[in-house]
Amino acid sequence: MNDKIKMKDALQKGKNCLLNTWRFLVQTFGEEKNLYIGFVLVVTLCCISMAEIAQGNDFRSWYYNLVNKSVVNKGMEYVNESLDEAVVQNYGSFLTHYHFRDFGEIIPRKVDANMPMVALTFDDGPNPEYTARILDALATNGARATFFVVGTNAESYPQTLRAIAMSGNEIGNHTYSHANLTKLDSSEVEQEVDKVNRAVKAATGDIATVIRPPYGAYNGSVLEQLEQPVVLWDLDTEDWDSRDAQTIVDNIIANLDDGDIILMHDIYASTAEAVELLLPRLKEMGYEVVSVSEMAEYKGKELELHKAYGGVK
Ligand code: ZN
Repeated sequence: MNDKIKMKDALQKGKNCLLNTWRFLVQTFGEEKNLYIGFVLVVTLCCISMAEIAQGNDFRSWYYNLVNKSVVNKGMEYVNESLDEAVVQNYGSFLTHYHFRDFGEIIPRKVDANMPMVALTFDDGPNPEYTARILDALATNGARATFFVVGTNAESYPQTLRAIAMSGNEIGNHTYSHANLTKLDSSEVEQEVDKVNRAVKAATGDIATVIRPPYGAYNGSVLEQLEQPVVLWDLDTEDWDSRDAQTIVDNIIANLDDGDIILMHDIYASTAEAVELLLPRLKEMGYEVVSVSEMAEYKGKELELHKAYGGVK
């Protein structure tokens, strides 16, 4: 009985509140008729906006920038569980598949940690043309990679750096001027590393997560000084030498092993073409293609400081 009276009371209060609000609006904005027209207009605009968002175009880019990106990304992973991948790729849907002109596209993916996996790594970029092509190929194939950038290019192409970060790929430090760190003193080493981190931070908001010394050259004191895990490679494609896409692909397919870190350079057209050919092949072979840090994570290995990694096995 008491509850019923309380309920009635609450309803009455709610009703009064709505009525008062309505009266206030009418007093403020004039006649009821105008208010109705305004209301209809607002609702129509909202409907159009929602439709725009769902179609995946400029409005969504704007919306994506407006709201917190990480929230959208979380939503993306969550909502996508129930969606057909083909539908997501072709049409997209709000919070699931996002076309962003400058940043390539993020296609949500699932990685099976039990499958064999390799990490593709690209040195000496970013390059506005070839890095972008590689990012597109990675996105299309649900793959990720690590890009070890040199500072001079990082400063010249912040947009490409952002594209790498925004598409879920990893940025590594490859020193400012592609220096042989074993030939520098510790303050020079620090400069070489810091200047890249500053450029990466300015473009993406974060510093590089891993580091690859140029020429794979390091010694005890360099290793001790560097404040990010040192990542080398165990499969060298020698893409700078052959400059031939098919040769690069054949080399990788012939020598591939679970846990490999593959070395390439995103500054050649032939390497971009090789990646476009390679990724579907790797998919057929059952390989997951991931960034170096992802591979460590999926394999339950922590990348430790003051250690150099040739592969993650
Ligand atoms: Zn290099």
